[in-house]
This record gives sequence, C-alpha cells and structure tokens, in this order.
Amino acid sequence: MSFAALAGFVVGALAVLFYRNQIEAPSRTAANDGVETGTALPQGVASVLAVLPSSAVVLDAHDRVLRASSAARAFGLVKGERLMAAELLALARQVRRDGEIRESEIDVAGHKFGQETTSFAVRVAPLGSHGQVLVLAEDQTERRRVEAVRRDFVANVSHELKTPVGALSLLAETIQDAADDPEAVTRFAGRMQLETARLNYLVQDLITLSRIQGAEPIPTPGQVSIDEAVNDAVDHCNTRAAARDIALVTGGTSGLRIWGDDELLVTALRNLIDNAVAYSPEHTRVVVSVRPAGDSVEISVSDQGIGIPEEALERIFERFFRVDAARSRATGGTGLGLAIVKHVAAAHAGEVSVWSKEGSGSTFTLRLPAFGGTAVAVPPSIPLEAAK
Ligand code: ADP
Repeated sequence: MSFAALAGFVVGALAVLFYRNQIEAPSRTAANDGVETGTALPQGVASVLAVLPSSAVVLDAHDRVLRASSAARAFGLVKGERLMAAELLALARQVRRDGEIRESEIDVAGHKFGQETTSFAVRVAPLGSHGQVLVLAEDQTERRRVEAVRRDFVANVSHELKTPVGALSLLAETIQDAADDPEAVTRFAGRMQLETARLNYLVQDLITLSRIQGAEPIPTPGQVSIDEAVNDAVDHCNTRAAARDIALVTGGTSGLRIWGDDELLVTALRNLIDNAVAYSPEHTRVVVSVRPAGDSVEISVSDQGIGIPEEALERIFERFFRVDAARSRATGGTGLGLAIVKHVAAAHAGEVSVWSKEGSGSTFTLRLPAFGGTAVAVPPSIPLEAAK
C-alpha cells in the first residue's frame, strides 16, 4: 500500500474511532492513553498510532504534542512536547483553522544517524472537534535515493544503447551508398556484425542483471559443483584466450560444492575470466584457483595484466563504470560484468573482493558459503593444471 493510501486509511479509521467515541461515550476520557499534557486522546487512537510504521504525532489545540510515536522522536520531529519542524507546525495550524486534510513533502535537518536532511511525505488531518491535529510523516530518503539510482541507470542504458544503434544506422546508410562496390559492402557489413554483437552483449547483460537483482533469494537453488562451474567458464573463454596466446590455468582444491545456481556462478566466473583475458597483454597467464576457507569456498581469478588504479578500485563494481572507456569498448565490454559478479555473490550470501596493482595484474576473489556449512575437499588438493 502506498503511503498516501495508508495515510488515508489511518486518517479515516481515526476519524471513525473518534466520532464513534463521541456518539457512544461522550463523557468518557481516555485517561491512560499516554497523555503527556493532561488533554485526552480519543479512545483507541493511541492503539492505532502504536502500530503505525510511520512517524505519528497528535497535537492539541495549543500546538502541544499530546502523543508522538518513537519514530517521530527518533527522527527529531518532536522534542519534549514541541513539534520541531516549523513547516509542519504551519501546516497543522492551517488544518486546524479550516479542517481540510493537507499533504506535503518536507525536508527536516537531520538528526537521525548522522544523516544531513530527512525528506518526509506528510499528511496532516484534523482529529475531532477540540482542535486536535494528527500529523503522519513517512521517511522518503531511501525511496528518493532508489529513484535517483533508477533514473541514472535508465539514462546510462539509453546512452549505452545509442552508440551501437547510431553506428548501425550510419553503416546501413554507407552500405546503401556503396551498393556498387562489393568490397566496401563486405567491409561495412562486417562492422555491422560487430556492432550487432555489441548490442547483443549489452542486452544479454541487462537481462542477466535484472534477473539476479530480482531473484534474491535464488528461485531454484541446488548443489553446485565448483569444478564443473570453473570448467564450464574456462571452456567458454578458451577461444578468446587462445587467440591472444593467454594460458588459462586452473588449480587448487577440487570436489568443493556450494548451494546456489550453477548458471549464475558460471556467468560470474566467465565475466571474471573474460576481463582477466581482455585486460592482459598477449602471452601471459590467467590462473583460476579454488580453495576452502573456513565455512566458505574461495575462487580467485588472477591475471598478469594492466591492473587497476587504486582510486578506481572502489568503483569498478558499479554499473557502467570503466577505468578506460575506449579500451572497454574495444574489447566488447559492456561495463556491466563486475556489477553482475557482485550481484551473483550477494545472491549466494557471499562477496567478491579485488586486489590489484597497476602494471602487475589483478586478482578477483569470490567467497561463497560452502554447501552444508563446511568446505570439505574430496579428493585433496591437486596441482595447477593447464586447461585443455
Ligand atoms: P567491462 O565490460 O568494461 O569490462 P566490467 O564491469 O567487467 O566492465 O569491469 C569494469 C571495469 O573494471 C573495466 O572497464 C576495467 O576498467 C576494469 N577491470 C575489470 N577487470 C579488470 C582486470 N582483470 N584488469 C584490469 N582492469 C579490469
């Protein structure tokens, strides 16, 4: 239920409670309703307010706080028997004057957990005929943050889509103009295929990302063999690695298992290995190594590549963040690979970390809870072995 709907419902329910009390028991006072100023709250109102998740405040006819939920105090909306936000007080006075319910959005200088300001959606309603006013306030800070992230994401996706789509449109025009030059047509058609592949990767990655983001916990988890997942991922990356004479080497402990989704794990490992290959010079090695670590399994992918500048390390798991956009584009990167890895780790209640030194290489480590709580290896460690 939206805040407006919930607030509407609560205001309505309180009004009914109030008028019923007036009609059924006009002389009764709610002496134990948590009254802080000696004025009575309509019976039942306190119990309704107590179960509300939002901040709720009841003011008497003199703007004194009759009741405030603990959230209202924690957010700093109420101190002692005073409503602290001037804007909210002005709203309450207007409501008391003309009896109209009002809604608004206000920012309050933050008291909560060091936050600078807190944004509230507020609804203010008259409560009965003695000048009492009900104020309901919902913290909107998180919703606004999520909205901003979503807006940024949509803007980024549109931008990312524009590049290959623009290129395709230009290439199609060029082919049309070069209709009588078969060699040029072949060349441009090849580039069209490249741009189409780029578009395809981007759409695939977007689908994967939205699938894992929406799938926590994993819908159909099962036992996943790490050996099989690593082999699948390595098989997938082998052609690309071989084309640049990069040796893909696997090793460590075999026989380990996790509880999760094998396809997602393979996707994450493929992204890490693909990156290791893409950001390494020719004739180097990429090592995928597995080991038990307490009640977890650690899978690390190490390369001898260009490395990542220290100041970028914190940001590389963000969607569409690239250290060097031109290089990422040249290697067919979408900028979503590591965001996918991070979400796969989170969906498995695990984490991903990175060590890197510019010019020396990088190691990405996935740490995932082992199946059954302990990482038991059968058989024991095997030496590093070049992938077939
Ligand atoms: P991309 O599709 O651009 O590779 P990712 O999300 O997979 O996007 O990675 C984000 C950025 O992190 C890359 O653009 C690159 O700058 C950097 N990066 C990722 N993996 C490596 C690596 N193994 N070595 C060096 N830089 C890397």
